[in-house]
Amino acid sequence: MHLVNVWIEHPVMDLNRTFTYALKDGMKAQRGVRVEVPLLSQSVTGFVDGGEETDLSLEEYSEKAGYEIKEVIRVIDDEPILNEELYELGLWMAHQTVSPNIACFQCMLPSKMKPRSNRKASVVEYYVHLIDETKATSEKQKGAVELLKQGDILRSELNKAFTGISAVLEKKGTVEIYAKEREAGYSELDIKEADYPLTWEQISAIDKINNSEKDVILLHGLTGSGKTEVYMQLAARKCRRGKQVLILVPEISLTPQMVSRMVSRFGANIAIYHSKLNDQQRYEQYQLVRNHQVSIVVGTRSAVFMPFDDLGLIVLDEEHDHSYKQDSSPRYHCRDVAIHRAAHHHCKVILGSATPTLESYARAIRNVYELVELKNRIHQNLPTSHLIDMQAQIRRGNYILSEPLEKAIRNRLNNHQQCILLLNRRGYTTIMKCRKCGKVIQCPHCDIAMSYHKDENKLMCHTCGTEMSAEMDCPECGSRNWIHQGLGTQRLYETIQDKFPEARILRMDADTTRKKNGHQEILEAFERGEADILLGTQMIAKGLDYPNVTLVGIFNADALLGRTDYRSVEVTFDLIVQASGRSGRGHSAGEVFVQAYDCHHYGIRLAVRQDYVSFFKNEMEYRHIGDYPPYKYMIAICFSSRDQNRAQQLAWDAGEQFRKDENIRTLGPSQLGRILDEYRYRVVLKGANRDQMIETVWKWYEGLQISRQQIKVRIDVDPYVLD
Ligand code: ADP
Ligand code: ZN
Ligand code: ZN
Repeated sequence: MHLVNVWIEHPVMDLNRTFTYALKDGMKAQRGVRVEVPLLSQSVTGFVDGGEETDLSLEEYSEKAGYEIKEVIRVIDDEPILNEELYELGLWMAHQTVSPNIACFQCMLPSKMKPRSNRKASVVEYYVHLIDETKATSEKQKGAVELLKQGDILRSELNKAFTGISAVLEKKGTVEIYAKEREAGYSELDIKEADYPLTWEQISAIDKINNSEKDVILLHGLTGSGKTEVYMQLAARKCRRGKQVLILVPEISLTPQMVSRMVSRFGANIAIYHSKLNDQQRYEQYQLVRNHQVSIVVGTRSAVFMPFDDLGLIVLDEEHDHSYKQDSSPRYHCRDVAIHRAAHHHCKVILGSATPTLESYARAIRNVYELVELKNRIHQNLPTSHLIDMQAQIRRGNYILSEPLEKAIRNRLNNHQQCILLLNRRGYTTIMKCRKCGKVIQCPHCDIAMSYHKDENKLMCHTCGTEMSAEMDCPECGSRNWIHQGLGTQRLYETIQDKFPEARILRMDADTTRKKNGHQEILEAFERGEADILLGTQMIAKGLDYPNVTLVGIFNADALLGRTDYRSVEVTFDLIVQASGRSGRGHSAGEVFVQAYDCHHYGIRLAVRQDYVSFFKNEMEYRHIGDYPPYKYMIAICFSSRDQNRAQQLAWDAGEQFRKDENIRTLGPSQLGRILDEYRYRVVLKGANRDQMIETVWKWYEGLQISRQQIKVRIDVDPYVLD
């Protein structure tokens, strides 16, 4: 009898072990193949890890094992769906992120192929194959047979030439018809050249990258310094040598602009892979790579799992971007996976950014990574930046829009140039407060103030999505006298429109882009010059390249500093620098106005000067004092449950256990705000040896006996946000 060990997702427990099943006669299942198996009166899909042969019968083996061995219901794939490299990658990732192997396998595949899905049919096409030409009688049938002698053809093609013929021939036994998964046609390599000469800076950057002995290169260059051109040059070179190339970009920069730039350079040789594709499209792009029909993939985070087998280069553009870290289990970082895969393929990884993470820059100056710099912008010098002290403006009665920024906007409107205004907060106001008793309306399910959305006259919780009408009496005192405080994009839009009634303004935030292609429509309208001002949240801070934009205004630039998160300064710096980079990309000089309350903060001052290196030095000092990354590694473990005692107790026990490890500094448990009616507690571990910390957490995790329905345990290795 043949037995297989199968990874499955247990419906109740987070287990990381295989279950043993017996193969029925005639079934074959090697490593990486999916099977359907019975579990707790359900049938679930799992991945085969390996198998063994036994002389015992099912009953005998069950008796020996001490539990009933069941039979595999169905073997789903003929070939392993994950090749050896990807299979190993899944196991490695599970270990690194302390998550079940099955969760990693699932996350690596497009959902059409994920184990749990019912496997909706992919696009299949029907082909006609000639089996017996002697049976053709009529002229029409003979004509069809002649055609089929040259090879199998699509049923639809055949019927186009000889109407209704396929059914006739099949009935006679002349042909057989079979189904085959659709493949896109193979496209010849057709790479265009750039229509401008490279700058000497770009040339020397490319040289340095090609000649570097390091596996990882940090390409540090201002926005608009020509990094993307460098990627494309290197990619073209690899493709011409028959290698595959992966270019990873944050969700936000996969704009129509970026895509069309890539497509016009690489033609049909490129696959685009991102979260806006539907299941079928993702599946098709995945197959294109698997079948070697494209050599370049441009994609967001999950594209890092594409089934390449001969990678020549990986680029991670805007390597500091938060979207590279997955914020649900498995909490992997795309950069780590990219570097791991590159090692397997013996190829280089290029990390590009104007504002690298402190981790990457620190590695670059310690010579772990090769540091390559682009110090000049291609078309223009950096925009001129102005820091506006809003405390002083408020004393003059300008609460939202400062005088200098107002003047600058008017000037652009008069000169038919465009502006981008950034406010990283959607909604109308951020809180609704009772004038009489001071009560702030909070989300009934979270410990968070609800935002007021004037458009819909609603209150919304931006954390859990709960909505309610804003027409209400104060639940404390019954008054109906509300104060709306704080500034969101809706209110900013209103204010700007009031000041400049003639201006055409587009608003872009999570509310206005909800519908399909919402993003794209707004950006395209702006690009066509149908608006003077584009106003929005951090969505508009990155990646956009509009030559007619000569002014960028940033409102409440220091709002993010108020968070307790250890990365808040880095995030603020990044946002200001990136947003500033949208100004003056064409031939006219650009200007940037940054409005802030705390103008002395180094994060704000240095961002306005675009001085990354000084920022790095300042910020490293703060990280050093606080024992934060890149000096120490961190693992955060969060416990959440509707049952407060249970969550608190488990967090407490975990803290006690970790404290026994003298190589780890254990902080907490601390109580976090409630979200979606769940109480949350968190323990944070800090230490110098990441591998050892992971081992410790694994040991603890494997000893846990808890049901997912009662309590959730969220383990985050190298957490990106900690607030
Ligand atoms: P980054 O990726 O650093 O923001 P890009 O590669 O997008 O910079 O370059 C910024 C702009 O300059 C783009 O519009 C690009 O087409 C153009 N560009 C890039 N390299 C050159 C060059 N050598 N000569 C002229 N224009 C260039
Ligand atoms: Zn009240
Ligand atoms: Zn909520």
